[in-house]
This record gives sequence, C-alpha cells and structure tokens, in this order.
Amino acid sequence: MNWMEKELSAMEDASLMRTLCLSSSILGCPGYTVRGERRLLNLSSNDYLGLSQHPAIIEVMREELLIEGSGAGASRHVTGNRASYGRLEEALSGWQNCEAALVFANGYMANSGVIGALVGRGDVVFSDQLNHASIVDGTILSRAELARYRHNDMEHLRTLMNKYRDKRRKLIVTDAVFSMDGDQAPLRELAHLKCEYGAMLMVDEAHSGGIYGDLGEGLCHELGVDVDIHMGTFSKSFGVYGAYVCGSRTLIRWLVNKARPLIYSTALPPSLIAGISKALELVQTEHWRRVRLREAVTLFRSSLSAAGFDVSAGDSPIVPIIIGDNDTTLRFSGALEEEGIAAVAIRPPTVPEGTARIRFSLSAVHTDKELIDAAARIRTVGLQLGVLSL
Ligand code: PMP
Repeated sequence: MNWMEKELSAMEDASLMRTLCLSSSILGCPGYTVRGERRLLNLSSNDYLGLSQHPAIIEVMREELLIEGSGAGASRHVTGNRASYGRLEEALSGWQNCEAALVFANGYMANSGVIGALVGRGDVVFSDQLNHASIVDGTILSRAELARYRHNDMEHLRTLMNKYRDKRRKLIVTDAVFSMDGDQAPLRELAHLKCEYGAMLMVDEAHSGGIYGDLGEGLCHELGVDVDIHMGTFSKSFGVYGAYVCGSRTLIRWLVNKARPLIYSTALPPSLIAGISKALELVQTEHWRRVRLREAVTLFRSSLSAAGFDVSAGDSPIVPIIIGDNDTTLRFSGALEEEGIAAVAIRPPTVPEGTARIRFSLSAVHTDKELIDAAARIRTVGLQLGVLSL
C-alpha cells in the first residue's frame, strides 16, 4: 500500500489534496453554515430556493418517520415500494406535463442508471466536455463509446455525429446549466441535431430545476424544448435528496426493468418521499423564491463585476471566479473564510487543468446587504492575493 502515500504526497505538492471539512447548519438560518466556532455566510451550497430548512418539509418528514419507520427495508421491486412513491411520480408527471416519471435515490444513480439502461456496446454517447461526472461514469459503465464534444460547440458535435453515424443507438446528453460554470447548454440546437441524426436527447436539470419556468419546471420548459429523457435532482432547489426522470410511459417502463441502480438498491426512506412531495408543492407555489433568487443573482453578479472581477454573463446562481492556479485558489478560499464567507476552492479534476476557481452559489434567502458586504470582502481578498489589481 506504499504507493498511496507517494501519490497522496504528490497531490499535496500540487495543492490537489482534498480533506473532509466539518460544516454544520443552523436551524432556521439556511443562508449560513458553521465551521469550527464561526458562523459563515454560505456561498457554497446548492440550496438555491432556501427550502432545506422549510418547517413544512421538516414537519411532514417527522410525521412520516413516526408512521413508517426509518427505512424502506428493500428495493422497490421487492417490498420497499409505497403508495407515496406512486403519488409523487404522478405529481411529477403533472408538473412536467409528461406521460410518466420515476424517482431515483440521487442524481448520480439516476444518470448512471439511465445511461446504462439506454445504451451499451455498439452504441455511442455524445457528451459535453463539461458534463457532470455522473454522466461520464454512467457512459463508461454502459460500455457505449464516449464521444465528448467541446463545451457547447455544436459544430464539433455535428462532426462527431457524422463520424458515428452508423452506430446502433445514439444518445446526446448535456447538463442544462453547467454545474461549475453556471452557463446554459444550447438546448434548441441540441434538439434540432437530435432530430436530424435520429438520436435520443437527455438533459440533466440538476442546477436549473426549481429555478427556471413559471412552476420551476426547468430550462427545457422555459425554452419550450422537448427532450426524450428529462432528469433533475431533489438535492438542490428542492432542499431534500433524491432525483427524478421524466419522459414517455415506454421510457419509464423500460427503466423500471433495466435501470440497475433502481433495481439493485434499496428504496428511499418513506420520510424522504414525504419531504420531497412537500418540496415539490412549495417549488410550484412559492414563486417568490424564484423571483428573489433572480434579484439576488443580478445584484451579486453586478457587485462582483463592479469590484473588478471578470464575471461571465448569465442569470444562474452559480457564479465562478476563475483563478487558474490551485494554490492561489485554496488561499483565496481560506482568506474568505477568515472574512466570514464559506466559498470552497474547486480544483481539477472537477474542472479542467489550469481553471481552478471559487464557485459562488446563491440562495433566495441571502439578503441584499449580505451580498453587497460579501462582494466587498471578496474584493478585499482579491486585492490582498493579487488576483485583482487597483
Ligand atoms: N448532475 C449534476 C449536474 C450535478 O451537479 C450533480 C450533483 N452535484 C448530480 C447530477 C448528482 O446529483 P446528486 O447529488 O443528487 O447525486
């Protein structure tokens, strides 16, 4: 096992070591986190709508826990299925205006399970270079060929689609909003290419579900783009845990029979299903959270730009500041913590080599004052570390 120590010290030297830091939440205060003895403004959470501490969600989870106990006890194909699963899936189909829906344990398992169920040897997956790791891992597991196209580059995608024209099944997969950059996929062009080449199109709405669309349906809905496989998570805007896949009745019947993470893993605890169902109601009815998030995003992006940072255009709550060098990025994050802000350093392999960054993510619960103060403190740190110049 000596090789491990060697590799770990090489990672340490390259400022690529990861350690598990402790954070705790403050009940009723979702915009903050506690590290050590300090309360920090949390600019590194995906709780975009601030639902993770919603009393109504906590209450239904508590009630269901007392009725159903702590675990489902088996997979849904055995004895873990409950009526509440079916009710949630019906509500999801209504929300997404599709024929059917299926709940998965989390987004990682949904992506890997769906891709593995749809393609195999002799098939090809066209995947954006910046897609989430679960999409890449799902493709590798499926044994289909992975054809990675340059980020959002439709000409490159077309070239690859021509190259792999004769493959049996073709699947295009993309994040709707990219998790480390906050930019959007060209969904209309992707839908067009999918028709032209007779491919299937799968979109991951992990960072856009709850945020776009009048009822939080996501970016596909907002842009009026029809996709074959629509996936999203309950761990971000919904403030809970789990994931969904929406599509045709045939797709869902296929996944129930073929998606291995669904078949070979225990069903989510009933208390979680209750919490997700309540969160789905709130995502649709508490529209003010989307409005507030949009205001917060506009204010924070313009404050950072005014402070001198290069902030890419867009309206996503994911706002990266690309620093490049791993060590400076780590020091930037450490200095922000000293200033009372939790904003973690994102380094390779999560992002491409030379593009280490601080990834800020906002929530509807952040106030204008908190965000303006934060931008001023981020500027101070930027100047101290030479990332910004006067
Ligand atoms: N897809 C994307 C785009 C993600 O960012 C994430 C999580 N960071 C996932 C899927 C996985 O979701 P989960 O955390 O529910 O496993």
